[in-house]
Amino acid sequence: MSDSLFADASQRLEQALKFVSISDDAAEHLKYPKASLAVSIPVRMDDGTLRIFQGYRVRYDDTRGPTKGGVRYHPNVSMDEVQSLAFWMTFKCAVLNLPFGGAKGGITLNPKELSKMELERLSRGYVDAIADFIGPDVDIPAPDVYTNPMIMGWMMDQYSIIRRQITPAVVTGKPLTMGGSLGRDTATATGAFFVIESIMSKVDRLPQETTVAVQGFGNAGAEIAELLSKAGYKVVAVSDSQGAVYSKKGLDIAKIRQYKLSSKGIKALYCQDTVCHIDEHEVISNEELLTLDVDILIPAALENQINEANVKDIKAKYIFEVANGPVSSAADRILEERGIYVFPDILVNAGGVTVSYFEWVQNRSGLYWTLKEVNQRLMEKMVEETEKIWAISQELAIPMRTAAYVHALNRLGEAINAKGTRDYYINGRVYA
Ligand code: NAD
Repeated sequence: MSDSLFADASQRLEQALKFVSISDDAAEHLKYPKASLAVSIPVRMDDGTLRIFQGYRVRYDDTRGPTKGGVRYHPNVSMDEVQSLAFWMTFKCAVLNLPFGGAKGGITLNPKELSKMELERLSRGYVDAIADFIGPDVDIPAPDVYTNPMIMGWMMDQYSIIRRQITPAVVTGKPLTMGGSLGRDTATATGAFFVIESIMSKVDRLPQETTVAVQGFGNAGAEIAELLSKAGYKVVAVSDSQGAVYSKKGLDIAKIRQYKLSSKGIKALYCQDTVCHIDEHEVISNEELLTLDVDILIPAALENQINEANVKDIKAKYIFEVANGPVSSAADRILEERGIYVFPDILVNAGGVTVSYFEWVQNRSGLYWTLKEVNQRLMEKMVEETEKIWAISQELAIPMRTAAYVHALNRLGEAINAKGTRDYYINGRVYA
């Protein structure tokens, strides 16, 4: 992989452009982010000292609507990573036909080192710094790695204080009591589950004869492991940042989840413990989990986990990308040659942004839906777009990832052309 994640991500666009007939102008437009913001966030720590954190927000493209994308708290957050994630969000929203463009944000830190009050001050400080860059009709943040409903609630509250009006639609993934949607906490995994079920029925594979390994045991990973386990799939391995556990006969996912939850400290926002501390399972390394001989491998942690270094050892038959960007473009080509099917992030994990869209609609209408309504609408969207991408893949004899990009590009290209040519002779304003 190139040193730049964005350069690697852009290769997917180049690959898909060979199969679409969008205008050259539209293709050129999609190669660059619309606007990028880097901010320094001063935070008074509990011991009285001052720390300055680096934060980012990238609005990649807003042709199809206000931009949408999560905020990540992680030590590896950089402008390059945030820009790549914003690029993927642009295509993901188009794949699902949501009236949004793509964005992403992040702060470079290890959130587990901060107290809850320090995290609240940091989250509010981030919103202070980016307040003119976001808004319910401009750009709408949401949770991502190591951010959660509590943090989204603080962000919405801070934005409302700045604007002097309650503005729930500025952030999604909020607590239910602050205008969150039922089903948002489980949406990424539920959406992925609908995609997996659609594909497994096409390839005539029954749950009880299908083994699964899941990398990452957070919001998305733990939920998809549990959904698959409940549906009869044999989930034989799961991992978190500290290691992995394996059981040939299948793991008791509900029990492992309960164990992790019970280890949350009273003052801390994050679990202190790891899946590895459950005695009865074999402990393996994160690297070993990725190369297990399973039917389905689900990377649900971070990007670039399957790369040129380990791709030759991958034995799974199907890879469903619940994480964003877990397979590098070089690894993608090798997996294709080896006949391993990869189902791409911009489809598989799009349930999260889809229910974020539902939350935004509910906030704006003031009418809240039941969990049944949310999940029914989510299922319809996920299955419909999976079917369309599958059909493109079959018709053009291209991998599902390229087919998903082709599908998104057709929608994006049409929208860019429909806007006319103003952008090309008048400098567009950045904020709207
Ligand atoms: P999370 O913070 O809830 O969980 C991340 C998990 O990954 C944790 O269990 C952590 O211990 C684990 N992890 C970190 N490094 C690891 C490593 N090297 N090996 C194994 N596990 C590791 O985050 P999340 O919200 O579940 O997001 C996970 C992925 O899904 C990210 O790529 C994110 O962008 C993507 N995603 C999330 C959502 C959402 O709604 N939460 C939506 C779409 C995509």
